[in-house]
Amino acid sequence: MEHVEVGGARIPKLGLGTWQNTGPGCAETVRTALDLGYRHIDTAQAYDNESKVGEGLAAADVDREDVFLTTKVWRSNLRREDVLRSARESLDRLDVEYVDLLLVHWPHPRVPIEETVGAMTDLQSEGLVTHIGVSNFTRSQLREAIRVSEGPIVADQVLYHPLKDQSDLRAFCVENDVALTAYSPLAHGAVIDDERLAEIGDRYGKTAAQVALRWLVQQEHVVAIPKATGRDHLEENLDVFDFSLTDAEMQRIHDRNPGLERRLRNLVPSIMRRVPI
Ligand code: NAP
Repeated sequence: MEHVEVGGARIPKLGLGTWQNTGPGCAETVRTALDLGYRHIDTAQAYDNESKVGEGLAAADVDREDVFLTTKVWRSNLRREDVLRSARESLDRLDVEYVDLLLVHWPHPRVPIEETVGAMTDLQSEGLVTHIGVSNFTRSQLREAIRVSEGPIVADQVLYHPLKDQSDLRAFCVENDVALTAYSPLAHGAVIDDERLAEIGDRYGKTAAQVALRWLVQQEHVVAIPKATGRDHLEENLDVFDFSLTDAEMQRIHDRNPGLERRLRNLVPSIMRRVPI
């Protein structure tokens, strides 16, 4: 497994997403993933599966300290006391003594980021959280989080896949030593049938999904957290570290999303951007 090293954190470049994976199946997925070699698991208070993720972690034949575990504080818990309480509740549900990374799940227009990050820093001092970061933060929101934080903001977890441009944010992350964690890296399944990705994959004996993931993890500071449920998808998604895309292929995938269209779409308020891109 390759890693991104930022702000003292060593984050496995490929992790397991667990959104919409709940119930006993979630514990089984997490256990299987860890047994297959995954060492990075992503959950959140809002996913309603922290206890099942914890069960999977406990059942796997892997030491806790070898797994990079992320959870996220939900938007209604961003006030200081709520951060402190809800993070402890997350640890209880996960049945762990610490999480490797605690993220602010979404920015909040009325809760100052300084208050939230201050509480998260206190959790770090107590040893309950190793690193802190954010999610769904724009470049300017990330800049502000970095400015008010005593310690490093190690990640911004955002929507990123071959049909979604994040060049500006990624450049900012590289400059500021922040990992860009790509969520929905398979565009929620939409990249699977992409002909251009499949054509590139044919050269390497890889699927379109694997090319999409390779394209992400081959970029500096980028981590990808595909969600998969069964063993076949889990195995397929992990198997992206034995080939490299050429510079021309990297660029071709990047270019398939015309720059102007991307930039215009990125200007549309997020509430109106419900159509998958
Ligand atoms: P995704 O990973 O882009 O796509 C998941 C879908 O792709 C599932 O339907 C999965 O099916 C399918 N799939 C996985 N591997 C495949 C393969 N090799 N071939 C064909 N299909 C495959 O979508 P996502 O769940 O939205 O994003 C991933 C993770 O990012 C989430 O689980 C969550 O941890 C995180 N996330 C974070 C935020 C945030 O606000 N921070 C928002 C969204 C997501 P199966 O389940 O049947 O395998």
